[in-house]
Amino acid sequence: MSFLLTCPNCGVREVTDFGYGGEVSPRPKARPSRRELNAYNYFRRNVAGVQREWWVHRSGCRAWFLAERDTRTNDVKWTALPDEAPAADAGTLAAVDAATGMPGGGAVGTTTDVAGGGPGSGVVGR
Ligand SMILES: [Zn+2]
Repeated sequence: MSFLLTCPNCGVREVTDFGYGGEVSPRPKARPSRRELNAYNYFRRNVAGVQREWWVHRSGCRAWFLAERDTRTNDVKWTALPDEAPAADAGTLAAVDAATGMPGGGAVGTTTDVAGGGPGSGVVGR
């Protein structure tokens, strides 16, 4: 399925111009436990709904930026460079519960841990 994405630098382009960097997930603390590191590296929430994610303008300016997209409809709510992105809402950030090792604390849409989850905290593929 094809859809349009707006590069913050270049404007509207076909999604085939871009590379997908995955859902945004907060980085673990400086010295994470093995469980926290494993969860950060391998667990994804994979929500059916709006999620915040990384994209790179691969065939253009090569900038990494953030987008919020509804994964069911590919409706893109907004795109922005990391420094200009709106604050994250609960439920749009992937977060892994360190206690259980389960993404989002084991329940989709109940993520409340947005501390440290600001733009640029979940760098993927740089
Ligand atoms: Zn661009």
